[in-house]
Amino acid sequence: MGFKLLLSFFSPSVPGESQEHFPDILKLLAPHPRLKEHVESMATEGTSHNLPKLPQESRELPHCSSQEEAAAAGDRSSLENPVKVEGEGQEGNGKGQAGDQEEKGDAASAKAGKCQEKKRKRCQFGPQDPEVPTKARKPDPPANQGARAAVSAPLPSFDASDLECSLCMRLFYEPVTTPCGHTFCLKCLERCLDHNAKCPLCKDGLSQCLASRKYSKNVIMEELIAKFLPEEFKERRRLYEEEMEELSNLNKNVPIFVCTMAYPTVPCPLHIFEPCYRLMIRRCIETGTRQFGMCLGDPVKGFAEYGCILEIRNVQFFADGRSVVDSVGKRRFRVLHQGQRDGYNTADIEYIEDQKVQGEDQAELMGLHNCVYEQASSWFHSLKTSLKNRILNHFGPMPEKDADPQVSPNGPAWCWWTLAVLPLESRAQLPFLAMRSLKDRLNGIRRVLAFISRNQN
Ligand SMILES: [Zn+2]
Ligand SMILES: [Zn+2]
Repeated sequence: MGFKLLLSFFSPSVPGESQEHFPDILKLLAPHPRLKEHVESMATEGTSHNLPKLPQESRELPHCSSQEEAAAAGDRSSLENPVKVEGEGQEGNGKGQAGDQEEKGDAASAKAGKCQEKKRKRCQFGPQDPEVPTKARKPDPPANQGARAAVSAPLPSFDASDLECSLCMRLFYEPVTTPCGHTFCLKCLERCLDHNAKCPLCKDGLSQCLASRKYSKNVIMEELIAKFLPEEFKERRRLYEEEMEELSNLNKNVPIFVCTMAYPTVPCPLHIFEPCYRLMIRRCIETGTRQFGMCLGDPVKGFAEYGCILEIRNVQFFADGRSVVDSVGKRRFRVLHQGQRDGYNTADIEYIEDQKVQGEDQAELMGLHNCVYEQASSWFHSLKTSLKNRILNHFGPMPEKDADPQVSPNGPAWCWWTLAVLPLESRAQLPFLAMRSLKDRLNGIRRVLAFISRNQN
């Protein structure tokens, strides 16, 4: 196979095609058909289109961007400092979204207003009822005779629609109240803050909430719902649990981050700032899987057919909502079907493993394994100290040679480490991920090493 080697060591990452398909903020906020309808009608009015796209450089993730810089500089001088990518693109994007969000918020308020009007008509509580705090803030409706008559009703009862979140139009789930006094489901509010750190109803700044990631749980609301609407509450919880289960599936609709090349056992630091990926990472943590797929972008298909599952080891959140995710490669997979969810890519996948060999083949494989390991190791040790140190800082030391190279279904870790540090273009790296034969992978690495040493001499 023909490998394109760059003169410089690292190649620029291939930006994901999918990132061109910028998520429609309004649709992101529409898990519920009722809101979706509303959202789509708004979209046709042109309020949610033309979201500004991120400029190229701000899409790059830490190590990607450092690789690109290194390529430009003709050396690897920027391998360190993997964590610093942002800039005007981010700001510009934020502004655009802020505007969009405001429009959305206004519409949401209008919608909420309409709903409340509707609810008032159904409401069986008198306006003076002290038991219901949400009612107290509502102005007296003009035609209130119905409500006044209801005061004398023997058993006032809640209507589930009285306790709906104005964002998802469903019964509050894990309700939280902002410092400005508005109540939303926790997850609805978080999703809003991914786009704009303002209250979706009154536009009060909520940067504090975003920075601390602490939200005031509305205990009384939760108790009222559980006490007066037990059936609706049970149904709401069932929906939530169903959704969590769906999101935890690591075979169907697996979240896919379209960005860079990831390999089993190799660390992959990521800078997260796009709202859809903030949501994706949060969900990975909430569901407890802490895993998502990483694929290279593909200009035709959206993203590559092969990828690697990354496991989140640690997340560092910043006050403005961005985060740096420390992840490490796990299993390899093949994409069976591509999809989308709430603005990010998903895929149905099947995991791939190396095919084991036995007998004579095994003995031959052992010999090849030892030989290529020595070649890779001596190539690495022949590098300049400064370059070596940068690689060590970024990828850690070269893993030891395996006693049995077939023990892991992904083959020896040192192979993936070597592939990650070799000066290979992403496109040339991709076939290695798809290989199910360790022998082929070892021969491929050997050819790359031979090519490099020929070019050096
Ligand atoms: Zn909600
Ligand atoms: Zn508010």
